[in-house]
Amino acid sequence: MPENPFFAPSGLPYELPPFADVREEHYLPAFERGMAEQLAEVDAVASSTEPPTFGNTITALERSGRILDRTATVFFSVSASNTTDGLMEIEKVISPQLTRHSDAIRLNRALWARIKQVTTTDPEESWLLEKYREDFIRAGADLSESDQDRLRALNEDLSKLSTQFAQTLLRASTESALVVTDPKDLDGFDEAKIESLRKEDGTYVLPLLNYTAQPGLSQLTDRDVRRRLYELSVGRAPGNFDIAVKMTALRAERAALLGFPSHAAYTVADQTAKTVEAVENMLGQLVGPAVRNAKKEAEALAEQAGFDLEPWDWPYYSEKVRQARYDFDGAAMRPYFELNRVYRDGVFHAATKLYGITFSERADLGGYHPDVTVFEVSDEDGSRLGLFVLDPYARPSKRGGAWMNNLVDQSSLFGLRPVVMNNLNVTKPASGPTLLTYDEVETAFHEFGHALHGLFSQVRFPRVSGTSVPRDFVEYPSQVNEMWVTWPEVLANYAKHHETGEPMPEELVRKLKAAEQFNQGFETVEYLAATLLDWAWHKLAPGESVTDPEAFEAAALEAAGIAYPLVRPRYRTNYFQHIFAGGYSAGYYSYIWSEVLDAESVEWFKENGGLTRENGDHFRRELLSRGGSIDPLTAFRNFRGREAGIQPLLKRRGLI
Ligand SMILES: [Zn+2]
Repeated sequence: MPENPFFAPSGLPYELPPFADVREEHYLPAFERGMAEQLAEVDAVASSTEPPTFGNTITALERSGRILDRTATVFFSVSASNTTDGLMEIEKVISPQLTRHSDAIRLNRALWARIKQVTTTDPEESWLLEKYREDFIRAGADLSESDQDRLRALNEDLSKLSTQFAQTLLRASTESALVVTDPKDLDGFDEAKIESLRKEDGTYVLPLLNYTAQPGLSQLTDRDVRRRLYELSVGRAPGNFDIAVKMTALRAERAALLGFPSHAAYTVADQTAKTVEAVENMLGQLVGPAVRNAKKEAEALAEQAGFDLEPWDWPYYSEKVRQARYDFDGAAMRPYFELNRVYRDGVFHAATKLYGITFSERADLGGYHPDVTVFEVSDEDGSRLGLFVLDPYARPSKRGGAWMNNLVDQSSLFGLRPVVMNNLNVTKPASGPTLLTYDEVETAFHEFGHALHGLFSQVRFPRVSGTSVPRDFVEYPSQVNEMWVTWPEVLANYAKHHETGEPMPEELVRKLKAAEQFNQGFETVEYLAATLLDWAWHKLAPGESVTDPEAFEAAALEAAGIAYPLVRPRYRTNYFQHIFAGGYSAGYYSYIWSEVLDAESVEWFKENGGLTRENGDHFRRELLSRGGSIDPLTAFRNFRGREAGIQPLLKRRGLI
């Protein structure tokens, strides 16, 4: 074994990263060697005396930076899922260096001059060549020396601020947690839940999840405790407001350098949306009806409560109305959603029915934490497809939310099969089986939709592998996969009582489906408000300064017609990780944008007989296997047989 596990390819099956061999002191030397190696490789391309060809330029760049790629993949995966003070320190040091490194490549004039001369007639190559040109121009390759200097400084400052934002936020989930000394204050939670919150000093600590409406709000019976929890949630990490002000100003300045009126305009230019107007046109169709729906829902809640609601009352009374109207009790579902069964007999089962793929646990392979499980995925003919790595549990060292990431990108250039990973934030019970909420079941199917996009990738080049598609397209396959959560054949297969094995009673299934449309007004407004907040921050013109970020936030929501005191944005500025530390700046609209394609695709599956191998194969062949190797909307048309329209989405969200 080499002295540093990142210096050579992993010897494990599928080149799964050798997590067990990695120690914190390996990262910095591996980052340093990785960056130096890639700069030398890039210099060799840039200074070549041969005429530039696709092979000696683009393919050579695709081949460069293997050590860096391996190191960064493991580092950012572990620091997201199981960080330590040491890793947080490394991240602070390495983030600005990585930004400088990427600028050193994209702003290399000799390299850019050669890329501009490359020609090719192969369609996959031309598409990739186009991507490279776009990437370089968007990174500032055509700017003057002095503008490039300013750009480098802006990028470096932004990367430091972004790390600072994320780290402040992670600390806030425990620093701003709800602490009570009397367990009576937690009335509404069950015994096991209360027990799991107990600390050694006898207090009870409820950490914050990374969005506004904490799940506890739907259960806690004490109104004042709900108020405290809500205020802790919306007020957490106050220092992040200032970081947001700085970051948005720097982003606006960078957009101007690159020739765009705002960061939003810059961001959407290489997305499927293309223009600010296209995004605003779509959001404009949704805001009015969504707010109307939410207000109608609020009336029913106030009637149930018998007093005027405050925002911390909404989840509690909506749960009450849901129970009254649909006789639907979220807690009654949970015994039917046992984690392992949800995966093996639900998520995996649906994939077997659609795509013929099968899963077997590889107990011999592991991750960075004992709770991580590795599965080998095989095609119907028995050939090996890749690995699926699952880390379901929440821990204080994990960032909020759920996500998919690649540990190894599929590419035929390197002959590599994909290794993909899903992270969830399910609370691990003190003992006994892990019972999921309905939302968590949905999240499991959603994230696995991303995993399929990675696993089915069949492309030549790493740059366009799997989920390397525009951000406003990437949520589409994952959203489609959610349709199988309540598909009768799938639900019947996984929703079985964890003790008795009895299937979920018909009655409960019927109620579950009837209640699906419930609270859509709230959910749509909560989402749209966050989207429009993101948009307002990133439509700032260069030089336009914000002095009072909270006032700016309020004014932005007012101006967008989405200000509704009872339903605050899903994320306020201070904990909007997606846009300040997650690559979704001016991109939070992507979820609803992708949902247009999703709603169309769900219709297609239903029109064509639903859960069949034929349908799965068609979706896989035309869409999932293509990754980013062709124009995404062309892939969609090839799959659907026509352009997407907005009607199916409006219908689904109850907005017509
Ligand atoms: Zn997603």
